[in-house]
Amino acid sequence: MCICTKDNPCPDCLIEEIQRRKAQTTNKYFLYWMDGNKEIVLGTSIEDAFTKAGYGAGALRALDFYSTEDSHDYDEVVHEWKKRT
Ligand SMILES: [Zn+2]
Repeated sequence: MCICTKDNPCPDCLIEEIQRRKAQTTNKYFLYWMDGNKEIVLGTSIEDAFTKAGYGAGALRALDFYSTEDSHDYDEVVHEWKKRT
């Protein structure tokens, strides 16, 4: 058991605290579906966000990719996600 304090933590406890906070942080993920739909889901990780949105592993096959940024728009002509320029 470590005897350091919260105000003056040792490196080990500091790393532990950072990881604990990271695990609790809710992130926003943009799902880019193959059919051209874009969806925003929230979770501590992409897996968490995906599960919370009610998607199973099977839905992954319909997902083109995901990003933490709203960076792509669907090109209806070529049916592909294109990065915004
Ligand atoms: Zn410590």
